[in-house]
Amino acid sequence: MTVTDAAETVALLEEHIRAGAELPVLLMTTAHLTGDYALLTPGRRPGVVFGKLRCEVEPDEREAILADCAERLRGFLAAGAPVPPLTFDVLHRIAAWAVGKEIEPFVPLLAEEMVLGSQDPRRPGWSKARIAPDRPFSVGIVGGGESGIIAAIRLAQAGIPYTLYEKNAALGGTWLENRYPGCRVDINSYVYSYASAPAAWPEYFGQQPEVLAYLQDVARQHGVEERTRFGCAVQAARWDEAASAWELRLADDGGEAVRTHQAVIFAVGQLNRPALPDIPGRDDFAGPAFHSARWDHDAALDGKDVGVIGTGASACQFIPKVAERAGSVRVFARTTTWLLPTPELHEALPDSALWLMANLPAYRQWYRASMLMMQGPGLLDRITHDPAYPASERAISESNDALRASLQGWIEAQIADRPDLRDALIPDSPVGAKRILRDNGSWIRALRRDNLRVVRTRIERIVPDGLVTTDGEHHRLDALIYGTGFQAARFLQPMTITGRGGVDLHEHWGENPRAYLGLTVPNFPNMFVMYGPNTNLVVHGGSIILFSELSAKYILGAIRCLLDADARSLEVRGDIHETYNARVDATNARRAWGWSGVSSWYKNGEGRVTQNFPFTIAEYWQRTDRFEPGEYLLR
Ligand code: NAP
Repeated sequence: MTVTDAAETVALLEEHIRAGAELPVLLMTTAHLTGDYALLTPGRRPGVVFGKLRCEVEPDEREAILADCAERLRGFLAAGAPVPPLTFDVLHRIAAWAVGKEIEPFVPLLAEEMVLGSQDPRRPGWSKARIAPDRPFSVGIVGGGESGIIAAIRLAQAGIPYTLYEKNAALGGTWLENRYPGCRVDINSYVYSYASAPAAWPEYFGQQPEVLAYLQDVARQHGVEERTRFGCAVQAARWDEAASAWELRLADDGGEAVRTHQAVIFAVGQLNRPALPDIPGRDDFAGPAFHSARWDHDAALDGKDVGVIGTGASACQFIPKVAERAGSVRVFARTTTWLLPTPELHEALPDSALWLMANLPAYRQWYRASMLMMQGPGLLDRITHDPAYPASERAISESNDALRASLQGWIEAQIADRPDLRDALIPDSPVGAKRILRDNGSWIRALRRDNLRVVRTRIERIVPDGLVTTDGEHHRLDALIYGTGFQAARFLQPMTITGRGGVDLHEHWGENPRAYLGLTVPNFPNMFVMYGPNTNLVVHGGSIILFSELSAKYILGAIRCLLDADARSLEVRGDIHETYNARVDATNARRAWGWSGVSSWYKNGEGRVTQNFPFTIAEYWQRTDRFEPGEYLLR
């Protein structure tokens, strides 16, 4: 979208506001730029309707608001005044209006997320140049997905030498590996992107090639590729006490090698090792069989009888595409998942919305903020167990039940004539127990197709020409696709990681990986895990990219502390780690994903929630904003 000059912007403003503005975003932007908070009346306060902020006003009032905002903004732009800074007071007044409840803890996070101009509040405000020049110090980053990339950028900004080790031939992580048909983000792209690296996303929910190109582009701008060893898998990491350094054992085309770094950041994600189901006969299937993250684009699917195991976030994106080509599709659905109605899921932004993002100062920032606000402070409450409520697998609180009713109503309206699909679409677990999927109706339409059948009966075994379910039915198949997810709870596997005193990380963790803030583990000095245990966001608002940005800020704070103190090692205190994790477990047990007995990748084999972050995202901001040396042992 081209950026227009000031006079042209003034001339075109009203036209684009009428054609492309979202009312809550427009009101917030106008109040911010003009300082006229009287615009933000209680009657105009937006509500959250199916995951989006909306002002429920009559058409006449809507017209009046659009015209009023356009006039005020024309005045602001014509005067050529600078964009007012986003002070705490400005953010607080506007966010409190939008969310309608006390939002104070959320405001500093918003301030960082709404990067105006070239400011980058999360850029480290220090440089290694201050540190004694004779001290050897470099960082090894393992993994070049979204978290490894932001860690690399921040280290470079602080002048800390690093090498990034990436097993693939290119950066991008999960967005490089997942290339199945229909793959796209299911978090709005204007939030699923780095705060300081905005992009003009043409669609609300960017498709895989665009997301990959974006990540690689940002990395390229910061010289990350030049410092990356591609095709290089880290097999083992060992803390060398005498040298106060990590020895990384690497394997690439040239064989094995050892590299030493004083600190290591594991940025390998939670969702990169495909999980194949342990079903008897799996290796016997004669036709093409592959996992969604290892899509076989050469496999013949056109006109074929295709079986799909799984109905998670990946499967609900690729099944509609496969069903368009296949002769028949059988979907083996063990459990089902709630759907969040999202009409714009496959839509491009109107040209006028893109114009406003590019030309109306702060509009893009308020749009991003609105995405955070709509979920941030409130939705967690609605998926939390109320001890006074007769909780069941139907609902765990009154507001959880109301949420169920609204989602169920939306589904039922589309299958009134197909009661056979109720069982496949209406979960028997509370909203929030499993990951909520987005749908614009295309998933439900796919399940309604004549060539698709949903099978709820359990699979007994896989045979050369299909599957046999426990009711004895033989499902003849030409191809089999596993949409069966990832080995999420097996953090940092298959690497061998040995810490202080020869402690093996996987033996130490067993089935229960834990870390302080998801980032640091006692006995593993100078080691950081990004997207580590209990850092997965569900209904918190934001995206994993936001979490990675906060984690990277914290890690840089830790490294600064280490260097400033001229200490050799830094390691989280056991008591701090234990107290934090006790709170994590207690809080997770109250959330729908911990309370419900339904299966999900949020839990380990013992039913403990190992993946999800239980607190608000504002709390993660507070806890990671400042590195607290008192919580660590510096040696
Ligand atoms: P998933 O959510 O873990 O879903 C796996 C599916 O396979 C579930 O339906 C599961 O059934 C089924 N399954 C697993 N083992 C089975 C077995 N032995 N027999 C029968 N069914 C079995 O995996 P995913 O869909 O790949 O998604 C994983 C995560 O990746 C998502 O939750 C999301 O965080 C991320 N993701 C994001 C996007 C996006 O942003 N667009 C897209 C894809 C994935 P049960 O439910 O009964 O266990």
